[in-house]
Amino acid sequence: MLSVIVPSYNEEGNVERTAEVLEKVLSENGIGYEIIFVNDGSSDRTWEKISALAGSDSRIIAVDFSRNFGKESAIFAGLEICRGDCAVLFDCDLQFPAETVVRMYRVWEKGGVDIVEGRKRSRGKENPVYRGFSLLFYKLIGRVSGLDMKDASDFKLMDRSAVDALNSMPERLTFFRAMSSWVGFDTEKVYFEVADREIGESKWRPGQLIKFAVNNITSFTSAPLQIVTVCGVITFIISVIMGVDTLYNKFFGGSEAGFPTVIILQLLTSSIIMFSLGIIGYYVSKIYDEIKQRPRYIIKDIIRSDKKEGNDR
Ligand code: UDP
Ligand code: MG
Repeated sequence: MLSVIVPSYNEEGNVERTAEVLEKVLSENGIGYEIIFVNDGSSDRTWEKISALAGSDSRIIAVDFSRNFGKESAIFAGLEICRGDCAVLFDCDLQFPAETVVRMYRVWEKGGVDIVEGRKRSRGKENPVYRGFSLLFYKLIGRVSGLDMKDASDFKLMDRSAVDALNSMPERLTFFRAMSSWVGFDTEKVYFEVADREIGESKWRPGQLIKFAVNNITSFTSAPLQIVTVCGVITFIISVIMGVDTLYNKFFGGSEAGFPTVIILQLLTSSIIMFSLGIIGYYVSKIYDEIKQRPRYIIKDIIRSDKKEGNDR
């Protein structure tokens, strides 16, 4: 059985279409499935639509979060709840083509491949600034982590073994795209065209994207901390040179000149210290967040056709 995980946040116009498209494509191809809609604290009628679907169709499971926890949490909730032999992630806005799910499933079915990764052939309609930033972000993450993340997406089909591996990772601050590469396994790529979103709008706001990038870099790698060390080494070298120069002037020349040097050095070193403290502080705050051991999400309600559970985890 294939589990399709659909994170949905304010997607009232898309939920039914998504269910329909998936149902049609998967049953036409004779693939047994379950669809898990995770309502990520939507403020519109998404939950009404999802719960109605789950009530009338035993293959649809509706999960309701107590508030908006973000797409990452929704993905991991889906991974934990799903019972399929493999699971695929599917955006509620139908930007991932359902036919590609079938192609991925066929690759997995042949055996020998644990993760089938969807790669964007084109990136769809996208703001050039956004494109520039995401390119920079993936370059950076690729450089520090050694994972090839360009054109990666959350569109992945995973074997049960990979799902279990992801479920066993305890961190609270997750980054699905990188974690699912990090676990390894035999991966094969499938290319797809990103469709345009027809209903509703993208949930990203520019500020959020910067936060997303910084969050994911710091939750996935400690490389920025090395910037602090590098800054320390550079300022040390400068201070040795300046120190020699100062001593030379003291003994062999007039030493009253040099006020500008003092001011510049003061400014330079204090700004480097502030900058470094900022980076370190950021990691301390990450440690703080992790150590609280809060759950990644809180489920208010799960609806499985005739079984209804109230649950607080
Ligand atoms: N999403 C979510 N929680 C959020 C934001 C988004 O579950 O806080 C879901 C959203 O409903 C959609 C998917 O994540 O199914 C992708 O969101 P979106 O289309 O806004 O992102 P984009 O495709 O522009 O990267
Ligand atoms: Mg989208």
